[in-house]
Amino acid sequence: MKALITGGAGFIGAHLANQLHQRGHYVRVLDDLSSGDPAALLPGINFNRGDVRDIPKLWSLLQGVDVVYHLAARVSVPASILYPREYNDVNVGGTVSLLEACRDVSVKRVILASSATVYGDQRAQPVNETMSTQPAAPYAVSKVAAEQYLFTLGALCGFETVALRIFNAYGPGQPLPPAHAPVIPQFMQQVAGSGSVMIFGDGAQTRDFVYIDDVVEALISAAQVDGVDRQLINVGSGVEISLNALVEAMATIVGNKANVLYNRTVSGGIARLVADVSKARQLLGYTPSTQLVTGLRKLIEQDPLFQQVKRKQPRAGADQTSAVRTRLNLGNRPQ
Ligand code: NAD
Repeated sequence: MKALITGGAGFIGAHLANQLHQRGHYVRVLDDLSSGDPAALLPGINFNRGDVRDIPKLWSLLQGVDVVYHLAARVSVPASILYPREYNDVNVGGTVSLLEACRDVSVKRVILASSATVYGDQRAQPVNETMSTQPAAPYAVSKVAAEQYLFTLGALCGFETVALRIFNAYGPGQPLPPAHAPVIPQFMQQVAGSGSVMIFGDGAQTRDFVYIDDVVEALISAAQVDGVDRQLINVGSGVEISLNALVEAMATIVGNKANVLYNRTVSGGIARLVADVSKARQLLGYTPSTQLVTGLRKLIEQDPLFQQVKRKQPRAGADQTSAVRTRLNLGNRPQ
């Protein structure tokens, strides 16, 4: 197939672009590089710098394309509370611009990277696609609006549409910005470097962490299978894990002791969130295959951020805590 990926120089986009390219598909990327990095893309991928709201640019990039992956977005929940207008402009305005351009050029299918945040606080877990959305931040509102525009304009204009509600994706290459960093690289950097992990709330809140390769498999299937038009589909691991358990798993893997600080005066966000992935299994043939511990190990092995930790990992059977402390030259500094 010939695919255009908006936001294709970002974390999920670059993994998707590279995987499609390696499987022999033609891949074109549009990204404004507000957070992405084109160096993450394999040679042979057609990279274009630009804004997803630039309709004339989209007209030319959509020529000859059968499948569009729409990933370009502002992606931080807390930043969306500070800058709701910008989140609306890029995430909603960008989606509508793209759909308008797709109307004018013959595209077969548009796949939206939506988000599990649309569910908000749900009493029943795991969450499934029939539940009503409870967005609790502008980012989540922008994804609900994007889903609705996607299905409405797709039906009106005659192209197929699919929205994947992605849970907490993680893996090598995930950016670690100084503010509002995603949980896994942020916690891993602290645990591996013997720093302090700051958890808001009591750490009992749960999330569904899904490894990047599983997300990419779901995205590729969403372009290739029949019977997914106007479908919302959860893409998670289906496994519920608390932040406390996540930090413990990281500490075991790096052989370090985690120093966790709790800020109970700040809300830890929604209490529980885990995906029911039965619809993805049924429609996409999706089977999440990377367990959390395996995914965290791959993160350490493959992400340049953690190369130092990889070199310093203790041998199996060694006293892991003291071995890592010695090799990192930490002396007896209390954890
Ligand atoms: P990311 O920030 O790494 O990727 C987003 C990309 O979009 C970046 O490369 C950025 O430069 C680009 N971009 C932003 N504004 C743009 C604009 N106006 N025009 C063109 N490009 C623009 O984030 P990600 O984690 O790879 O997320 C990709 C998509 O998946 C997003 O839509 C996000 O909302 C969604 N999603 C991600 C997760 C996750 O856990 N990572 C979970 C749910 C949904």
